[in-house]
Amino acid sequence: MSEYLYKRVLLKLSGEALMGEGRYGIDPEVTERLARQVKQLHDDGVQVGIVVGGGNIFRGLAGSANGMDRAQADYMGMLATVMNALALQDAFERLDAPCRVMSAIQMNEVCEPYIRRRAINHLQKGDIVIFAAGSGNPYFTTDTAAALRACEIGAECLLKATKVDGVYDKDPVSNPDAVRFDRITYHEVLVRGLQVMDSTAAALCQDNRMPIIVLNIEGEDNIKNALKGEPVGTVVVQ
Ligand code: UDP
Repeated sequence: MSEYLYKRVLLKLSGEALMGEGRYGIDPEVTERLARQVKQLHDDGVQVGIVVGGGNIFRGLAGSANGMDRAQADYMGMLATVMNALALQDAFERLDAPCRVMSAIQMNEVCEPYIRRRAINHLQKGDIVIFAAGSGNPYFTTDTAAALRACEIGAECLLKATKVDGVYDKDPVSNPDAVRFDRITYHEVLVRGLQVMDSTAAALCQDNRMPIIVLNIEGEDNIKNALKGEPVGTVVVQ
């Protein structure tokens, strides 16, 4: 445990991280691989909270672009995150890792309601806690929910695991000359409009001095190495 720089962290997993090479839904192999990575941290004594997205199933913005009422579509997106949370919980339990799902929208038959003090208690007892249904409010994203939960549970950093290996000055997929930052300030992220996370989430982290580490989920030991202070991905700080 001593080799880790952080004792309690919040990991943001996008819905896309669960679908692997597919174009929709949940890939059980990918989910298991992710669960194994997190279980390793848990076994090493790191307290891990997870906010999972829902973009592999439904995004509110996509729904409203097709004419749906935005809030209605956002509730569908939040429900999608609950499905992902249950899939992840199942993967953890198959690995014998204790895991709770707490939802910002109450659905007591399938998971616990989100109660901040209870979440902290679960983490202290050694359970992995998955925060589902985002913030519970439409017009937000799971990035913002991740920033919010990270602050609420007293996480020491927010890890954003994505399909790219950090923050670039422009989109690295369409711009081969894009430059990756090892370290960048929240201010620069906001002013330059860099696509690390949405501006509400970045501003919340800035206001609360919550460090963000953006890294590629596909590297097997990336999360572990980042939490040990090794140069993985991009660190966003004050
Ligand atoms: N969502 C919401 N409020 C929240 C979090 C999420 O309304 O606090 C909805 C929103 O429609 C969003 C969807 O849930 O598009 C899925 O979340 P997100 O797009 O953040 O997932 P990700 O891109 O991380 O997979």
